[in-house]
Amino acid sequence: MPQKIAAGNWKMNGTRSSLSEIQAIAEAAQDIDCTAILCPPAPLIHSAAGLAGPLAIGGQNCHHAKSGAFTGDISAEQLVDCGASYVILGHSERREGYGESDTLVRDKAQEALRSGLTPIICLGESRDQRTAGQALDIVLAQLSVSVPDDAQIIIAYEPVWAIGTGLVPSVAEITEMHDALRAQLHAIYGASGQDISILYGGSVKPSNAQEIFAIPNVNGALVGGASLKAEDFLPIMRSLAES
Ligand code: PEP
Repeated sequence: MPQKIAAGNWKMNGTRSSLSEIQAIAEAAQDIDCTAILCPPAPLIHSAAGLAGPLAIGGQNCHHAKSGAFTGDISAEQLVDCGASYVILGHSERREGYGESDTLVRDKAQEALRSGLTPIICLGESRDQRTAGQALDIVLAQLSVSVPDDAQIIIAYEPVWAIGTGLVPSVAEITEMHDALRAQLHAIYGASGQDISILYGGSVKPSNAQEIFAIPNVNGALVGGASLKAEDFLPIMRSLAES
């Protein structure tokens, strides 16, 4: 059975004064029956991990090499050393802004796994690709190259046009994509493909979470803006637990 997972991506938001939100989420998380993960900016990871209790902490990126002359980068081992147990990889903001390819995402995922992190691998089509009827082909092609050999991963389907826009695909569109992802995970990993959590991401809010979590093969959410405040993230976690 896939785990129910609510993961929050803080992106480049938050300073040490925001740790109180992480503490509030961690305190409430012990009474909510889902796996909760927060991925704050790297400088906050160590402090966040010290507060987190049942809340797991993740990074937002890592390098594909174990160590070396890579100024400004962070290794998977360093994330583990600071208390992280997950890492978001291949987010569209990194694919678009830093030219990250599917093969690079796979190499990062292999290194994350070697270091003991569970990768959260993001996939998603652009608005133009969706309009052109290419969404399924694009996302399944991303999946086939971006994933590592080991099935110890989480997949996040995040249509690029839904991130931070308030736009959300229809229930039929999410259903079609998540069913296709599940089928391809079976094709890649065999029976283990059934246990991989497939998250939906893109403008998830307390107001739409229940409807999204009722969709088969949606095993949780990757949440950006609505993960910054406990008052928004906790209702999403509760909807997931009740789904
Ligand atoms: C994200 O960036 O992963 C995301 C889903 O953002 P938002 O929830 O703000 O759309």
